[in-house]
This record gives sequence, structure tokens and C-alpha cells, in this order.
Amino acid sequence: MPTLFSLKGKTALVTGGNVGLGQGIALSLAEAGADIVSVARRDSNDTVSRVEALGRRSLSIQADLGSTAAIEPVLEQAAALGPIDILVNNAGIIRRADAVDFTEADWDAVMDVNLKGVFFLTQAVVRRMIAEGRGGKIINIASMLSFQGGIRVPSYTASKSGLAGLTKLMANEWAKHGINANAIAPGYFATDNTRALQDDPDRNREILGRIPAGRWGEPADLAGAAVFLASRASDYVQGVVLPVDGGWQAR
Ligand code: NAP
Repeated sequence: MPTLFSLKGKTALVTGGNVGLGQGIALSLAEAGADIVSVARRDSNDTVSRVEALGRRSLSIQADLGSTAAIEPVLEQAAALGPIDILVNNAGIIRRADAVDFTEADWDAVMDVNLKGVFFLTQAVVRRMIAEGRGGKIINIASMLSFQGGIRVPSYTASKSGLAGLTKLMANEWAKHGINANAIAPGYFATDNTRALQDDPDRNREILGRIPAGRWGEPADLAGAAVFLASRASDYVQGVVLPVDGGWQAR
């Protein structure tokens, strides 16, 4: 049974693996046996040390994934750890303003990282997976705003709703190559991404009041879903957007 979830001998590329949810996912995949490449604008040295302490290999690559020009250089560097078996599209940003005031710059910045960057990085990785006939696992990090509208975050909602659709398209086109494309939709997790909500007493109370689990999520809460979707255990799972939300969607 343990081999069903083992990632031994696999290499995972986690975007934004240096902090927050991405770091939690990177560590959970390493605990299951994977070597880890983390790509972010800042370094991922803390993640590298913690992955190496688990006995796995790890690499920090600094790049701005909001630009498609970054993709090929990133993949050339990542090749030092071998072909990519698992791609976790976690890097993401959010910009908050009333919809009537929302700027084109805030629209483009979010879409470039959360949607366009995800699509073209995945395309480049999948081209290699298909050419090598290796199969693979794509895990997109979606959001409750893949299902709901949210408030004051128009480009974020558009990007995460778009990502849910894109996940299904990826599954439809690539399942025949032995590639699984799925998404995890985290609920409300205590990271930099949600700092403004945590710090606003009214919003914090409203959010906690709707979470049956009664607490904000911690990065380690994504470990089970991430290992499942990265492992052989999910070989017949395609195109799902799996909420990990303490029950938020059940309310
Ligand atoms: P976070 O702490 O702000 O982390 C964001 C990550 O994305 C960082 O690693 C950041 O690294 C990386 N990143 C941002 N822009 C980048 C760029 N242009 N190029 C490369 N890397 C970039 O937020 P988080 O909460 O962990 O969010 C991780 C993912 O989960 C995001 O997609 C977010 O939308 C999603 N999510 C979060 C929650 C939540 O409650 N926290 C809920 C649902 C979904 P650098 O700054 O070093 O580049």
C-alpha cells in the first residue's frame, strides 16, 4: 500500500516553492520521496535546506514566471535534477481594489502569473513529457474563487475561474499521454496572500464563522491532496478541482 503514494525517484517542479502553500506542498512531496525544484523570484534556499534534510535533492531557481521568456531558461536549469515528473503550478498573486476602480495594470499582472504563465509553463513541460513518453502529473493551485465570485479581486477571480476550466482542458487533451491534470482549491489559508483578510477584524470574523473546521488552513493541510494527486494513487483521476477548505464549500 505505501508504494501507491510513494514519489521515490520522481522529480517535482513547484512554482513558488519558497514560502506559503508552495513550500508546504514542496515539503510534503519531498517527504513522499520526490526531489524538488522550486522556482520563484526570491530564492528558495530555506526550502532546499529542508528538502535536503529529508534526504532528497533540491534546487532553487530564481525567475519571474509572469514573463514567458523565463520558461525555457528555467527548464534548462531544472534539468540538473532530471526530467520533471510532477509540475505544481502554485505561484500566484492577488491585487485588491473595487471593480469600478480596478486598473489594467492590476488585471494584466495577475493574469500573466496566475493564468498565462501557468498555461505556457505547463505546455513546455508537457511537450517534454510527451516527447519522452514518460507521462506525468500536473497540479494547478486553484481557489474558492474558481467556484465563487469573491469581492474586490476581479483579476484574481477571473484567473482562478479560468484555471479551473484550463485544468479540465489539460486533462481532456493529455490523459491519452498518461498525464494527469487536476487542481487543488485551497480554502482560506494563513499566508501572505490572505494577510489583508487576516488583519481585518470584520473579514477575519466573517471568514472564520463560515469555516466548519473553525480555523484558517495551514500549508501542511494541503499535504494529503498534493501527494495523492502527484502519485500513482490518482492515475485514473482527471480534471478535478479538489477543495481543501475545512468545509467552507459545504456551508
Ligand atoms: P504567498 O505566500 O503570497 O506565495 C506566493 C508564491 O508565488 C510565492 O512563492 C512567490 O514567490 C510566488 N510568485 C508570485 N509571483 C511570482 C512570479 N512572478 N514568478 C515566480 N513566482 C512568483 O501566497 P500563498 O497563499 O502561498 O499562495 C500560493 C498559491 O495558492 C497562489 O496561487 C494562491 O492564489 C493560491 N491560494 C491561496 C490561498 C490562501 O488562502 N492563502 C487560497 C486559495 C488559493 P516570490 O515572491 O519569491 O516570487
